[in-house]
Amino acid sequence: MLKKNGDIVYWLEDSLYLNITNRCSNKCYFCFRHFWDGIAGFRLKLGKEPSTEQVIKELKKHISRRRWEEVVFCGFGEPTIRLDCVLEVARWIKKYYPFLKIRLNTNGHAVLLNPNRDVARELKGVGIDIVSVSLNGHDEETYNKVCRPEFREAYKNVINFILALKDTGIDTEITAVELPEIDIQKIQDFAKKINVKFRLRQFIPLIY
Ligand code: SF4
Repeated sequence: MLKKNGDIVYWLEDSLYLNITNRCSNKCYFCFRHFWDGIAGFRLKLGKEPSTEQVIKELKKHISRRRWEEVVFCGFGEPTIRLDCVLEVARWIKKYYPFLKIRLNTNGHAVLLNPNRDVARELKGVGIDIVSVSLNGHDEETYNKVCRPEFREAYKNVINFILALKDTGIDTEITAVELPEIDIQKIQDFAKKINVKFRLRQFIPLIY
């Protein structure tokens, strides 16, 4: 039976995940959280957003349980809405578990959510190893239709954020969900052109 309060830390295979917020600046029509409360027996709908201290406290309970491949900021919301929490938790991980990889899964709105900050450099500065950016649209019109962002300039900003991440030397990848509206080849060509990895995600009940 699912627990009443949401899980801050959950795991799938060899990855440990951090669910730090349920807020998001997109309203993707395919979003898993519109249809489900959680995944693999974990409840990801949070009653209350955890403080940074609570995230670290929960992480401490699980981080040494086994040899995880990575810790991933990815839950039922956009982690960079809480950029300072991401940075502080990443700093803590790198201090006590320096060899553990940290990945951030993001919708790429970080600069719109945190204006006047050099987010890519801040992520690099605390040791985030991989950033996986969802780009669910091969152009602005498709992106707006599929993701329904709260920001008018979202698409352009996602592209700029990808370029900024790449410039810092962070391992950057673009992901897109296989949906009828999206021309995957065009996104793949763009990734190739700017020399970042591309990963296709199936439209199945997972977290994008
Ligand atoms: S799929 Fe990701 S970016 Fe889209 S609404 Fe859901 S959490 Fe936000």
